[in-house]
Amino acid sequence: MPDLKRPAALNRLAVLTSGGDSPGMNAALRAVVRAADAAQMSCVGIADGYKGMIDGRLKPLDARDVSGILQLGGTVLGTARSTRFRTPEGREIAAKNLRNAGVDAVVVIGGDGSMQGAKLLSEEHGFAVVGIPGTIDNDLSGTDFTLGFDTAVNTAVDAMDKIRDTAASHNRLFFIEVMGRHAGWIALYSGLAGGATAVLVPESSWEEDSIRAKVLESFALGKRFCIVVVAEGGEEGGAFGVARRVTHETDLDYRVSTLGHMQRGGAPTMRDRVLGARLGDAAVAALLDGEDQIMVGERRLEIVRTPFEETWTTDDRDFAGLLGLMDRLAR
Ligand code: ATP
Repeated sequence: MPDLKRPAALNRLAVLTSGGDSPGMNAALRAVVRAADAAQMSCVGIADGYKGMIDGRLKPLDARDVSGILQLGGTVLGTARSTRFRTPEGREIAAKNLRNAGVDAVVVIGGDGSMQGAKLLSEEHGFAVVGIPGTIDNDLSGTDFTLGFDTAVNTAVDAMDKIRDTAASHNRLFFIEVMGRHAGWIALYSGLAGGATAVLVPESSWEEDSIRAKVLESFALGKRFCIVVVAEGGEEGGAFGVARRVTHETDLDYRVSTLGHMQRGGAPTMRDRVLGARLGDAAVAALLDGEDQIMVGERRLEIVRTPFEETWTTDDRDFAGLLGLMDRLAR
C-alpha cells in the first residue's frame, strides 16, 4: 500500500508540462523553479509530462537552469500524452519514481486532462499536487484565461487580418478554421477581435440556413468581405464541410483557410508571460500553505485556488454573453 502520510515539510518539488503545449508554459516553469528556490525548496523537472514521470526522466533544476526561457513558445521540458498514466499501474510506477527522487510535491502545468491525472496522483499516492492551467483552449474554469490562450488568439487574429485584406479586395466570403475541438473560446475571441460575421462553436447550436441568410444579408448591406470562424472538429468535414453546406445553391465566392498548429507556437504575449509568472509563484505559495488538489488561477486579476474537480465540471464564465455581443455587432 502506498504511504499516504503527508511529509511534515516540503523539501523537493517536481514540475512538469503536460497535454498540448502552450505559449507561457516556460514562463510558468521559470516562476515555479525560482519561487521554490526563494523558499529554499529544491526542484526537479520532469521531461515529457506523465510519460517522462513513468520513464523516470527527472533532472534537478535550479534558478539558473531556467534562464532565457521566459520568451520562448512551446515548453523546454517537453510534453506528451500518456496512455499508461491513465491506468493505476502506470501511476504506481510514476509515483515510485517520484519517491525515489525524494519528491514530496508536484506542480502540473497543463489542461483539463492533466488536472484529472494530477488529482489521481495525489489521491492514490499522497503527493501534494497543485495545477497551473496551461492550454490554448481556455477550457478550464477557476481562471479567466488559461496560459497560452492570449497568444493563440493573437496569432489567429493576425492571420484573420491578413485574410480580411484579400477577402475585401475580392468581395469574398472566408471560412476560417481555428483550434478548439471541444471548446469555442479561441473561435469566439478571434471572431470578436477580427470582426467576423459569425462564429460556429461547439457550445452553441446553429443552422446552415441562418448562417447563409446572415452572410447574404451582410453582402446586401454593402460589406465587401465576410468571415465565418469555425471551431475545429465539431462539424462534419470541418470548415470545408461547413462552407459547402452554407454556400449551397448560392453564387457566393468563398475560400476556406485552416490556421492549424501555427496557433500553438510563437513567443508568448505579455499577458501570457505575466500570467505564467503569477501562476507559477502562486502554485508554490499554495503548496507552502499546505494546499493540495487545487488549481491556481487568476480571476479579475486576483489569484484564486479552485479544487481540481471543479475546474473541469463547472464554468461560470460568460461565454454566451460574449457570443451575443459578437452577434449584435456583426452587421
Ligand atoms: P490540452 O487541453 O492542451 O489538450 P490536456 O491536459 O487536456 O491538454 P490530455 O491529453 O487530455 O491533455 O491530458 C494530458 C495527459 O493527462 C494524458 O495524456 C494522460 O496521461 C493524463 N490524463 C488525462 N486524463 C486522465 C484521466 N482521466 N486519468 C488519468 N490521467 C489522465
